[in-house]
Order: sequence, then structure tokens, then C-alpha cells
Amino acid sequence: MCGIVGYTGKSQAAPILLDGLSKLEYRGYDSAGMAVFDGKKLRSEKTPGRLNALVEMTHDGELLPGTLGIGHTRWATHGKATKENAHPHFNAAGTVAVVHNGIIENYLSIRQRLEKKGYAFKSETDTETIAAMLDYYYEKDPIEAIIKVLHRVTGSYALGIIFTDHPGVLYAARKDSPLIVGKGRDGNYIASDVPAVLKYTRDVYYIRNEEIAKITGDEISFYNIDADPVTEELHTIEWDVNAADKGGYEFYMMKEMSEQPKVLRDTCDPRIKNGTIVFDELVKDEKIIKKASKLHIVACGSAYHAGISGKYVIEGMAGIPVEVELASEFRYRNPVYIPDEIVIAVSQSGETADTLAAIKEAKANGVPVWAIVNATGSSMTREADRTIYTYAGPEISVATTKAYSAQIAVFYMLAMMFAKTRGRLAPEREEEYIEDLKRLPEQVEFLLGNKERVQKFANRYIAAHDVYYIGRGIDYGIALEASLKLKEISYVHAEAYAAGELKHGTISLIEKNTLVTAIATQEELYDKTISNIVEVKSRGAFVMAVTNVGHSDIEENADFVIYIPSTNKYFANSLAIIPLQLFAYYVSAGRGYDVDHPRNLAKSVTVE
Ligand code: GLU
Repeated sequence: MCGIVGYTGKSQAAPILLDGLSKLEYRGYDSAGMAVFDGKKLRSEKTPGRLNALVEMTHDGELLPGTLGIGHTRWATHGKATKENAHPHFNAAGTVAVVHNGIIENYLSIRQRLEKKGYAFKSETDTETIAAMLDYYYEKDPIEAIIKVLHRVTGSYALGIIFTDHPGVLYAARKDSPLIVGKGRDGNYIASDVPAVLKYTRDVYYIRNEEIAKITGDEISFYNIDADPVTEELHTIEWDVNAADKGGYEFYMMKEMSEQPKVLRDTCDPRIKNGTIVFDELVKDEKIIKKASKLHIVACGSAYHAGISGKYVIEGMAGIPVEVELASEFRYRNPVYIPDEIVIAVSQSGETADTLAAIKEAKANGVPVWAIVNATGSSMTREADRTIYTYAGPEISVATTKAYSAQIAVFYMLAMMFAKTRGRLAPEREEEYIEDLKRLPEQVEFLLGNKERVQKFANRYIAAHDVYYIGRGIDYGIALEASLKLKEISYVHAEAYAAGELKHGTISLIEKNTLVTAIATQEELYDKTISNIVEVKSRGAFVMAVTNVGHSDIEENADFVIYIPSTNKYFANSLAIIPLQLFAYYVSAGRGYDVDHPRNLAKSVTVE
């Protein structure tokens, strides 16, 4: 949530800050601001609303001259989205400027203490207390002052700081909120995420938790919280600039849906070796894989839905009990662990606050933790014992599509790996699954190729008020994800039900023309789901069905049918979700919404 960009070097900072912030817009925000120092004067502008307003107010940055600057897009947590609360925040003398992402949990007591010492505050934010504390502790050495502040705050932060006593020097620190340092040729950068700096450099450092960076135009140094210098490894970003561009599509979401065949290949191919699944990242865990008594998947949102599908696949193939839990519940529930269980955390960004907290909780109890993560170098990759990357590339649209597809593919492969290691996968079955896995990309391609048909149907239902999604087994997992897609970007009330559950209450809501989407890809449950279709049909529902090719009998009961190519029962999720993603997209676009930036939502939920 929110974005930070900072620059110091030879170029004018403001245009770089504005450009970088525009690349972080996908994260969600409600106000924007920046401060630029030209060696003499620290100038600042901020405004509620879109970044464009800041671009206009500053004449594309021209009104804020200088080669050192910090910029921010805010996602308000403490105080409304007003100009006063927008970042940067300053000390009273205007010699320290701070941008912050995260939450300072003990800000109120700090603020009260500082008020007693004569400090006055202009905003309602927790962030302003950091600026005041820096003022209070600053003698001559910024690093020393920053460390004193970090020792006294609780919560999460990514910080970009300017001290006017130190022209040309940009300071940064982070804990549980993302922040990277970019090493460029004409200067150096900080940013909440890689796309903000990709235009200028591919060389980045990942700042660790409770670490401080001191950055000048040509030097970058890191310190731990005891002020000892530490070295960080320079990483080269592999994906090209276009990966974070719309590439001719109207919305990122369409571009990202279209990339799913490639994402499946990138995520699966490197793990298929000599006709078997090999996770290089798990080779040291063979013992715990053999002994595992239970897998405990923790995640939020779509990643949680991926986990639900994962549960059906892993239990079905490998016979290991799997529990799936929302990270926000897990972290506060005092979970009861059983010997030899493994916690598997799932997150696109690797920064999701609740999931990160769940990882820490499990680790503190000595439970091995694997993280299925998309963003390279993110916090979870450092906290978890093992990282299993999904190679989906940068995902910009708030509503996930390709990262979700990569997550479920990882679950298929984990299920196969567990089944094989534990002697539950017959060679001919393994061969069949590998073949099916390799075929998925072209099958997804085929479904994407039929998008106009889905679009036409979506146009018909553009004014829908309530949509129900039903399915059994894995199809229930798909229903959950499909319904979330629709509600998050189209603002249409949508609910997913295990199909057998409908008659226990919800069926009373079905009336003439209510849209019910039935997913029926599981052969052994097919007849049962057909019965549920008949139930809603006889109460007036309009039924869209997604089923396997060959089931044309479904047309006796369903009004609109999408057939998915044949695969094994476990992998059907990857295919059935495609038309349902497209449906949500076309309803949103058809209603004229900003598909990539749904209201009230942020891409990576880095606060609780
Ligand atoms: N907690 C801070 C505020 O409300 C920062 C929010 C953010 O991450 O944008 O101003």
C-alpha cells in the first residue's frame, strides 16, 4: 500500500519522483506529495487525490528544483486524506522531511510525550511523530538520530528522509514494509517496488528489516540498528521494462490475464526434470517432506483461494491432511500445532502484513515454514525457511490473475512431489500428470482466444445486482476466487457457495433472472452439481455453467455454457478460472470502471 520514491544524484529529482510514483499507482493511494532540496531550500507540494494533481501543481516537477528528493503516495491509516495529512512531514524548523509507509503503533504516547516538551503537530498522522522525534534526537549525525527513533517506535515502516544539514544525502530505513534501493549511473534511488526505478536501473539492493541506508549520488551504505556497517548483495532484475508496462492493452488486468500461458510455463517448466517434479529449493527438506503429518496453508484473499484448491489437490493426490486458514485469523488464534506439520504461506507480494505475521508466529513455535511468493527479495523470502517462487513477473493490476494461476500450479506440483516422495504416485499417473501440466498453457491460450463470447455474455449481465457462484470440491475453490474477482473490480454483490450448501438457506435469495454461475468440472460430482443447477433453475435463475468439453447434456439446464478442454480432475481449476476472470473483467470495463484500480483496495496489503 502507498508508494515511496526517493532520488539523489545529478539529475533533477522531481520529474524522477513523479515518474516513479506513477509506476506505483497500482498499489492504491488517496493523496500524493513530495519534497525536493536544492542545497539551500527545501520545497514541498502535496495534495489529496490523484497523482496528476501533483504533476499539474508542480508543472511536471519544474517548480521544485533540486537533485535530492522524496515522493509519496499515501493510503491513509491515521487521519483523513487531506493536504495536511499527506506526506512528506517535517519538523517545525523545516530541516527534516520524512515520507513513511506503514503504521507507527505507539505514535500516540510518543506524540503526547513530545507535546509536553513543546512540540506542536500539524497533522493527525502517526508519521509526523517520526519527523518530530528525528528533530528531538538529532545532534549532528542523522544515522544516530534515525537509530534512536527506530529503537523507540513499534509497528511497521518504510522511511525516506532528508536532513537539510546533509545536502545530497538520502536516508532510508524499513521494518515490515517494502523498500528497495536502486543503484543507477546518474544517481541512486529508493522505492517501494522495482517498477518505479526500472527505467533507470536494474541493479537493486533489498534493505533488510531494521536496517538503515545512507545514499548519495555515487555511494550506498547500509547499517544495522546498532550502527554497525553491513554489506548487502546487489541483485539484477531480470524482467525488462515492458514487463511493467501496459504493452498496448487498455488495462493491466487484460495484459496479465493474457500472460497466463507464459506464466504457467515459466513456473512449471524449470521444475519438470526428467519426467518428474523437482523443487530445488526443497532438496534439504526431504526428511520433513517424508514425515509431514499435516500441511497448514495460511494466506489472504485470492492466495487463500489458491490454498483451498491446493488442499483438494494435495489431499487427493498425496493423502496428507491439509488445513487452509486466513492469515488474519491464524495469527491471533494461538494455533495448536501438531508434530511434523509444515506451514505454507502464500502471497503474491511477499509483504502481506497478516501472512508475514503468521510466518513469524509459526517460526516462533519451531514449525518449518515455506513461502510461495512472487516478488523477488520480499520480506517473506527472508522470513520463511524456504521460498518457492511463482514466476509470474510483476503484477500491477490490483485484482490478481496471473499470480493466482501460478500459485495453483505450484500447488499441483507440490502435490505431485509429496505423492511421489511418499510412494503414492504410480509412474503412469505421474507421466499423465506431467503431460497434462505441459498442456495447460496452450489450453489456457485457447480459452483466452474465446474471450469475445464471454464479453458478449458479460454485456448482457452488466447491470446484475447479485451473482452466485456454486461448485463442489475443487470447483468450490474456483467459485470462491471467481466471486471475489467480480466483486472486487465490478462492485457487484457476489457470493460463492459449496453447491450442496445452497439449499440450507441461500436458495431463498434466488429469484427470476438471478445469475447463478455453476462450475462442474469434477466428474464424480457432476450429477450432484447438475441437481443443484436444476434447483436454482426451477426458482427462476439464469445459469451460466463452466464444464468439461463433452458434457453438452448440461445445455438442457444451463442457459449459457463454457466448455473447458480436457485435463485431469485436479488441474481443471487452471482452465475453469479463465472465463470467469474474463467475465469479471468485462463487467467492470463495461461499467466504465478503472479495472486496475478498484475503489478502496490496494495491491499489497502491508498494513493490518
Ligand atoms: N500511517 C501513515 C499515514 O496514515 C502512512 C500511511 C501509508 O502507508 O501511506 O499517514
